[in-house]
Amino acid sequence: MNSYDLVIIGGGISGIWTAYIAASIGKKVVLVESGLLGSGGTGRCAGIHTTQLALEIDVKLSKRSLELYDEFADKYDFEEIRNKCGFLSIEESWMAKESSKMLSNLGVTHSLLSSDELREFVPGIIIRDSELGVYTPHDIIIDISLLYQAIRKVLKNLNVDIYEYTTVKSVEKDDRVIKSIKSDGSTEFNGEHYVFAAGAWNKTLINRLGIWQLPTTIYVCQALTFSKPANMKIIPLYFQDSHIYMRPEGATRLVIGNGYAKIIEDPDSYPNRAEPEYIEDLAEKICDRFVDPSEIKVISGWSGPCSTTPDGYPVLGRIPGFDNAYIFDGLNGYGIMRAPAMAELLVHALVRDAWKELPTTFDPSRFNGLRNYEPRVIELHS
Ligand SMILES: Cc1cc2nc3c(=O)[nH]c(=O)nc-3n(C[C@H](O)[C@H](O)[C@H](O)COP(=O)(O)OP(=O)(O)OC[C@H]3O[C@@H](n4cnc5c(N)ncnc54)[C@H](O)[C@@H]3O)c2cc1C
Repeated sequence: MNSYDLVIIGGGISGIWTAYIAASIGKKVVLVESGLLGSGGTGRCAGIHTTQLALEIDVKLSKRSLELYDEFADKYDFEEIRNKCGFLSIEESWMAKESSKMLSNLGVTHSLLSSDELREFVPGIIIRDSELGVYTPHDIIIDISLLYQAIRKVLKNLNVDIYEYTTVKSVEKDDRVIKSIKSDGSTEFNGEHYVFAAGAWNKTLINRLGIWQLPTTIYVCQALTFSKPANMKIIPLYFQDSHIYMRPEGATRLVIGNGYAKIIEDPDSYPNRAEPEYIEDLAEKICDRFVDPSEIKVISGWSGPCSTTPDGYPVLGRIPGFDNAYIFDGLNGYGIMRAPAMAELLVHALVRDAWKELPTTFDPSRFNGLRNYEPRVIELHS
């Protein structure tokens, strides 16, 4: 049997960052992943990392995560994992002023652009006179496949054992302690601590193992790729009125999506492709915003599973009833922005047994005894 300080289930953004932070401080870690690392929601995301989020706690997490991506890229010389292209949010002026106030209070570098300045900044986009832009120059786009290439190398150097195509199927436990977990291939992992970072799959897994009733809602998020003229300058941006985001993908493509969420029971049942109605709806809305909509055309689309809690806040910490099992979930459509900072909080709390230092809003026990809850997805963008 293999013995570890930390057994992490799931190789998405939450699992890899937990593994990296724990291994960086000398912990012996194993990462157990059903498919390839990054083959869950993380490998299907748009890679946008902005500090322009509606909740203060999310702005703080996103700001810290940004620092962690920077530290990682600088330390291991993986500059290319992120593109420092900034992020622009186009909002009704009263809302932009509110957003700006919050960003100032939280120390986020940004500037407020008038509608005329916006028209110069993003020339192909229709800007209304009533709108202002909030620009955060330090925001980034993460290149997910390069991030995984980098993290794989770093985790190996830090002696993290990585088991891919290994699905956790059973657990040996007594009253309050998990003793070991077993995979479908009967590999047994023995750890001092167990972190469940299986994203949208946590709910059924934890329930099936008889550990806890995790009250998350699973939903599908979709995104589309459009073609654009190579000379059209686009930076990552967000339209507050339609909740649509877009970012460049190379010189001639755009990735476009929104917060539209379709609730599903089984995370494996996500449709892979984008639905025709979604494509139609998004294409129509986005065309309203281009000076010359004939220049952009849908190329393809995809979808992936996400999970959210009943109150929209993540769930991070010790699983009620267990001394050595932890949940890291409910990242919504914000996993890239939330996960590194949350992984740091989790590992530090775990090492120092300092659970009171975690935000109470993330405390898993807030859902204790909750049996009936409305499955709903909470839109967190401003
Ligand atoms: C279309 C789309 C666009 C998005 N865009 C963005 C964006 O721009 N910015 C952003 O911040 N977020 C975005 N998101 C959200 C982001 O993808 C998620 O918040 C994030 O990926 C969740 O990470 P995770 O580690 O919790 O879960 P996952 O990435 O899903 O990782 C969980 C892993 O656990 C594994 N697993 C499951 N069951 C088991 C088991 N029994 N044993 C072992 N392993 C198991 C799975 O294979 C999976 O790899 C987007 C999501 C989608 C779908």
